[in-house]
Amino acid sequence: MSQVKAYGAQDKDADLKQIDIERREVKDKDVKIQITYCGVCHSDIHTVRNDWGGSKYPVVPGHEIIGKVVEVGNQVSNFKEGDLVGVGCMVDSCRECDPCKNDLEQFCENGMVGTYNGKDKHLGGHTFGGYSEMIVVEEHFVLSIPKNLDEKAVAPLLCAGITTYSPLRHWNVQEGDKVGVIGLGGLGHMGIKLAHAMGAKVVMITTSPKKAEDAKRLGADEVLISKDEEAMKKHANSFDFLLNTVPVKHDINPYLALLKIDATMVMVGAIEPLEPMHGGSLIMGRKRVAGSLIGGIKETQEMLDFCGEHNVVSDVEVIDMQNINDAYERVVNSDVKYRFVIDMESLRN
Ligand SMILES: [Zn+2]
Ligand SMILES: [Zn+2]
Repeated sequence: MSQVKAYGAQDKDADLKQIDIERREVKDKDVKIQITYCGVCHSDIHTVRNDWGGSKYPVVPGHEIIGKVVEVGNQVSNFKEGDLVGVGCMVDSCRECDPCKNDLEQFCENGMVGTYNGKDKHLGGHTFGGYSEMIVVEEHFVLSIPKNLDEKAVAPLLCAGITTYSPLRHWNVQEGDKVGVIGLGGLGHMGIKLAHAMGAKVVMITTSPKKAEDAKRLGADEVLISKDEEAMKKHANSFDFLLNTVPVKHDINPYLALLKIDATMVMVGAIEPLEPMHGGSLIMGRKRVAGSLIGGIKETQEMLDFCGEHNVVSDVEVIDMQNINDAYERVVNSDVKYRFVIDMESLRN
């Protein structure tokens, strides 16, 4: 075992502070990574503050990890010292159930192991995430980062990127399709960029007219203000696909009216009760509502390679580790364009 510096919270009301954590020795299939950048996801804050219940303390968040390989185990074949790699939301799963065998580790029947607050089978207790100097991860859960991309701006692809890429692919979004992205935050801004890179006609759907200009800069062809009833009527029954990234309770009925016959709206933001849905919103037009959670490891690599080919990265604001508590306040107030990324060098100084 080795002790490394990290940032963690000791209880749900505490600020994050510097603490020491243990990392396991490198085993046969392990990759040891010196972390260079780590993105700040809203889930980090929910876990620190125990918003979803079941948080284990200290919480060391961070599941958008970029770093350099510093050591590999005897049986590691895909990575070597010096490689630029990433780790996303999972560090393990059973590898034996049907979802695991079908490259859907995120839906492992025995529970995928979260990069933080998961069950640590090696050291006991729970896993610690990327707000730390080093991490040791089994090769299967380590990803290759395309060399042409800006590494700090790649970090958010590991969660926000795959969360939006996976449903766009699963529901087979094609060139020329009319795709609506609902909500412009960390997820929404990646949804726009990825749908645009896939050749879709992208409409940003937002309550806030002041986001219009930025949405177009990110790749939206058009902006639809959801509070404008006339505009919403004009777009009725016209969308091939809707990606709903709104992270809080809301009324989905007005959005369902936008879908074509047989088209689907996929929920990726709100893990909580929604306003009641009217059955007629689905029945009239044989419409569908579905959900999606990150993506499997194979698909996450595919997403990174796609981003390498199409030069897609996240819009980021880089911060020092010491400024994380202020950054959390700003994320909660939607005051970031569009993702904070921690420069982990600041923790080593
Ligand atoms: Zn996340
Ligand atoms: Zn499994």
